[in-house]
Amino acid sequence: MNKKPFVTYEKLKEIVKEYQTPFHLYDEKGIRENMKALREAFSWNPGYKEYFAVKANPNPFLINILREYGCGCDCSSLTELMLSKALDITGQDIMFSSNSTPAKEYAYANKLGAIINLDDFTHIEFLEKTLGYIPETISCRFNPGGIFKLGNGIMDNPGDAKYGFTEEQLFEGFKLLKKKGAKKFGIHAFLASNTVSEDYYPTLAKILFELAVDLKRETGADIRFINLSGGIGIPYRPDQEPNDIRAIGEGVREVYERTLVPAGMGNVAIYTELGRFMTGPYGCLVTTAIHQKHTYKEYIGCDACAVNLMRPAMYGAYHHITVMGKEDAPCDHLYDVTGSLCENNDKFAVDRMLPRVDIGDLLVIHDTGAHGYSMGYNYNGKLKSAELLLREDGSVQLIRRAETPKDYFATFDCFDILKNMDYNV
Ligand SMILES: *Cc1c(COP(=O)(O)O)cnc(C)c1O
Repeated sequence: MNKKPFVTYEKLKEIVKEYQTPFHLYDEKGIRENMKALREAFSWNPGYKEYFAVKANPNPFLINILREYGCGCDCSSLTELMLSKALDITGQDIMFSSNSTPAKEYAYANKLGAIINLDDFTHIEFLEKTLGYIPETISCRFNPGGIFKLGNGIMDNPGDAKYGFTEEQLFEGFKLLKKKGAKKFGIHAFLASNTVSEDYYPTLAKILFELAVDLKRETGADIRFINLSGGIGIPYRPDQEPNDIRAIGEGVREVYERTLVPAGMGNVAIYTELGRFMTGPYGCLVTTAIHQKHTYKEYIGCDACAVNLMRPAMYGAYHHITVMGKEDAPCDHLYDVTGSLCENNDKFAVDRMLPRVDIGDLLVIHDTGAHGYSMGYNYNGKLKSAELLLREDGSVQLIRRAETPKDYFATFDCFDILKNMDYNV
């Protein structure tokens, strides 16, 4: 299967006349259509709500698009909470799913009226001490331990993950929370990441729904929602089939009808905290080939680097690359496509077959719409790029400017050194 960029070469040539590479470009149309399909897939559940995982792409313009379809924000840090607040997304439209949480962040989440999703049994007391009470609505994160397997072999290792309560702790926790005044309960779990499988959510749902029935029976807790969290993946590789979100929604509905409804829990709301699935495929990193190097291997040097997209360097993740204008040319050259960091893992692709790349060619690195820009850092003093939105009407909007040296040095603003800084470079 051929993976096509959502932007044409003609359009991109127009865009780079105005905006220097590298930059992330997002596809408004793709985001909206995917969002509609998600909403449709879970329309059978009246309380359904997607809390967009802000960490995947904390851009206010994109969050505002998703908000039009009823999305809330899934936050995990102080600044993510602040961003939601600035967008007037507050109260139960925020899910605060954090871990190793500082007291100050719990306090701020509570001040905004967010739903707090506790990561650990000991956080019950920690939260009570921090706030002086336990909020009426509370959620707990479950970790079943062991190995998590799906029919198609996708596996993750919850037993090795730092998150969540054990099953025993969850039962004790619900009892304790109830005693301390909690009235409305939620359960959450995130057991596998980037699953390209229609089985993940239904399998997770079965675990959580059965648990919810037991929890209610044993603790008397009033369970109002079950949060399937993130984890629905996207086809990074050209040979992968995208998930069918309708089939996933239908799979969850079947488990719901079989498990919750007979237990008299047919009014439980389903929540999701998807990140990657919401924006991943609808973003790309656009970079220019600025060097060719022939040593023991053939290298293409780009003007982007791992600062702009860390996933290949960090996880060896595959990101498809299209050499623009050469979409139909044979992939008969073997390259490592690199950035400029003084780190040998700063490679967007290793041993990748591509059409011949010439200096000045525009490369589109696919699927950077989630965990792309947001995972970036400033190693080697490299600056973060701009973010652009390709609107439905074909126009392009700058939705975050590129960092400047002034931004990079801003945290020295209380020291004399900045007096000597020459910004005219
Ligand atoms: C990262 C994360 C998500 C989103 O995960 P995706 O893989 O992007 O869907 C949701 N919830 C929590 C608690 C997370 O940490």
